[in-house]
Amino acid sequence: MTLWKLLFKLIGTEPISDLKWVFLFWSLHLFSDTNFSLNRIKKMRLILFVISAMALFLSELNSTVHAQQSEWSLALHGGAGVISKDLPDSMKQLYYEGLEEALSTGEEILSEGGSALEAVEMTVRSLEDNPLFNAGRGAVYTSEGTHELDAAIMDGSTLAAGAITGVTTIKNPISLARNVMTDSRHVLFSGAGAETFAEQTGVERVDNSYYNTKHRYEQWMRAQQQSNLKKEETIRGLCRTLNLFSSPFVVSPHCAQTDVILSAAKRSRNTSGISKPSIPDEYKYGTVGAVALDKDGNLAAATSTGGMTNKRFGRVGDVPIIGSGTFANHVAAISATGWGEQIMKNVSANTIANYMEFNDSTLEEAMDFVLTERLNPGDAGFIGVDFKGNISMQMNTVGMFRGSIDSHGKRTVMIWENE
Ligand code: ASP
Repeated sequence: MTLWKLLFKLIGTEPISDLKWVFLFWSLHLFSDTNFSLNRIKKMRLILFVISAMALFLSELNSTVHAQQSEWSLALHGGAGVISKDLPDSMKQLYYEGLEEALSTGEEILSEGGSALEAVEMTVRSLEDNPLFNAGRGAVYTSEGTHELDAAIMDGSTLAAGAITGVTTIKNPISLARNVMTDSRHVLFSGAGAETFAEQTGVERVDNSYYNTKHRYEQWMRAQQQSNLKKEETIRGLCRTLNLFSSPFVVSPHCAQTDVILSAAKRSRNTSGISKPSIPDEYKYGTVGAVALDKDGNLAAATSTGGMTNKRFGRVGDVPIIGSGTFANHVAAISATGWGEQIMKNVSANTIANYMEFNDSTLEEAMDFVLTERLNPGDAGFIGVDFKGNISMQMNTVGMFRGSIDSHGKRTVMIWENE
């Protein structure tokens, strides 16, 4: 079959349908040859026979091609970034279990003929309820020590989409995003407006402290220390530069005083006793997402996140921006994770789908293009499924928590490259 497909690709024709006409033309030509020694009626019968045999053969071939495509497919991610290979086995196990559980949730829906939309929402809900992932319960801390969550969902069959940003009391932001899509005339609600909308639609609410987890708190503390350190270095540098202008040879008492205060602050931080990180410091990203193709041939994508650790007030990332972190149409469904600002500037998820459509490329090629030609190493990871059920999960980061399953029963769960 691979040879067939290669041949079709080379001659650029739609498989089967065009070849059918070639065969038909050829048999008509053969039997209309005047030297062919059969009477007219027999000739006609033979022609009909050849055509039916041809049709049968070709429809067989056609269904073999289709049988190779997946009836339904699902892929998910739990965030990309610098995920240390030194992650303790016990932690690794917990991540794998969380991914497996979410995969099974989506698998059950799709294998029973449920919609792609339902599958991606429920898969993401499962990840949102797991404190390990940066979404829902495990959302990261903002610079103010609170939690602001974003989510988006998109139905590829209609281009209907719903998103919310900066919510603080929603247990499962992805379900509120779905409500925006189905119960409002709008696509994106933010902050207080999104909370008011939540009241009207009756999704489950929680206190902001619901998202407080020890590992995220420690991660936030370390992020704060790092950013304070940077601020201090800037102050120190500024003080010395100003001092140079006023008196190049004498260090002003102000600068000397600043140095003493900053060094004391640094010393006290180093002895503040923050325990060893359970999640590596460099793993500053995180987000969850799911993409699916259902038995009816519809595609859907969903993404949910707490954003980036220590983000400033009101910061909006790529996730709720339709086309950036989340996108689905008739060609592909994509969900992104990584540095939101970079993903957004390249309208990444939409670019992948458009690249496929406009260049007649595979999902694999389109994703690779965005990761290598548009983004920088270490920026992002994507999961996608196309209208034929092909799955692609790629990243230019060290790792990405991810998994996939299709109707042929092919199941994968991975964190790093080449596992
Ligand atoms: N892309 C998310 C954001 O920037 C974070 C992530 O995926 O890790 O909000």
